[in-house]
Amino acid sequence: MKKIDEQKIDKLAKLAVIRGVALEKGQNLLISAPIEALPLVRKIAEHAYKAGANIVTPLFSDDEIILSRFKYAPNDSFDQATNWLYDGIGQAFDNNTARMAIAGDDPLLLAEMDPDKVSRANKATNKAYKPARERITEFKINWNIISWPGKAWAKRVFPNLTEEDAVIKLGDAIFDASRASVQDPIAAWDDHNKSLRIKTDWLNNKNFDSLIYKGPGTDLKIGLAEDHEWMGGASLAQNGIMCNPNIPSEEVFTTPHRLNVEGHVCSTKPLSYQGTLIDEIKVTFKEGQIIEAHASKGEEILQKVLKSDDGANRLGEVALVPDSSPISQSGIIFFNTLFDENAASHIALGQCYTKCFKQKDLSPEQIKSRGGNSSMIHIDWMIGSNKIDVDGVDQNGNSIPVFRKGEWCN
Ligand code: ZN
Ligand code: ZN
Repeated sequence: MKKIDEQKIDKLAKLAVIRGVALEKGQNLLISAPIEALPLVRKIAEHAYKAGANIVTPLFSDDEIILSRFKYAPNDSFDQATNWLYDGIGQAFDNNTARMAIAGDDPLLLAEMDPDKVSRANKATNKAYKPARERITEFKINWNIISWPGKAWAKRVFPNLTEEDAVIKLGDAIFDASRASVQDPIAAWDDHNKSLRIKTDWLNNKNFDSLIYKGPGTDLKIGLAEDHEWMGGASLAQNGIMCNPNIPSEEVFTTPHRLNVEGHVCSTKPLSYQGTLIDEIKVTFKEGQIIEAHASKGEEILQKVLKSDDGANRLGEVALVPDSSPISQSGIIFFNTLFDENAASHIALGQCYTKCFKQKDLSPEQIKSRGGNSSMIHIDWMIGSNKIDVDGVDQNGNSIPVFRKGEWCN
């Protein structure tokens, strides 16, 4: 039987501990992962303990068990969540526990299940997880997310290969995109972080008032929040630890103004959202709010998502990614936002990254008054391609080219 290269698993695990979560001596580490990722989680635990971890706690999930719930659990239970677990996770974060998540589940796991149960269960989980998730979005602790080539996911990405071959091929794509298959992944990430830093420094220096996107089906102005800060690559958590939250990551991103988005935009890649696929999204914004939304696939789910709460139909993130990014050039659609969002410029509905402000200890009211959005959802979707131009409008109204045909102008 063919197996995923153990050396690459080891390199990815070490990279995730040393540069990803950047675990500090004496810290506890919480890892959530699909059960299939056990070989990677074991390696992470090994490297974490070698780096001085105090206690490493894995939390595993299993697709079959999730499906059993949707098939057999009582109807009322879909409005409930395991609050005790999310409360405990929040407590762990308050005690400076570092967080790692391994993605790799079947992206279309719930596609055949009752959409009403799916959306109620998502809503209940989102609500229960909110306090803990806020500690992540506020960047209180160091965290990191990496991926594992789960069997079902691999078959979605490479439907014409055998399961075995699909897993190996997706594994290689993950290791490559994560810069984990090179000789020295840690040095490669140090270089990558430096080049992202040049872009964020330039954008922060320009301090644009808004960005204008033009391309096929897209004519959109995205106002940026007051005092917004562009971030990307390595960044400093509030506990003083410099970590790389996303591996891979090719984006620079900031917080848009929730009241100042005008025009229309269409998605350029399919969006895999909690087990269903939403494709060819077309939306129109007025005063920051989506007033019309369509999708060729998954429109029902999209409409439900937009009604999740008051902030769900406004933007919480704007991110720039050149079309030449290695993930875009791989030509693979991963059906996983972690990868696909790094293939193209994107926006996200819902919660803003409150860390994307120059001042770091803002209250929820201060964030709101600067234009930051608040919601229990955060959903990235891709609007970039090699046909999109982006201009920045500075505080004096001057227009400065940022992207031409999907590439950085400088
Ligand atoms: Zn993003
Ligand atoms: Zn995002």
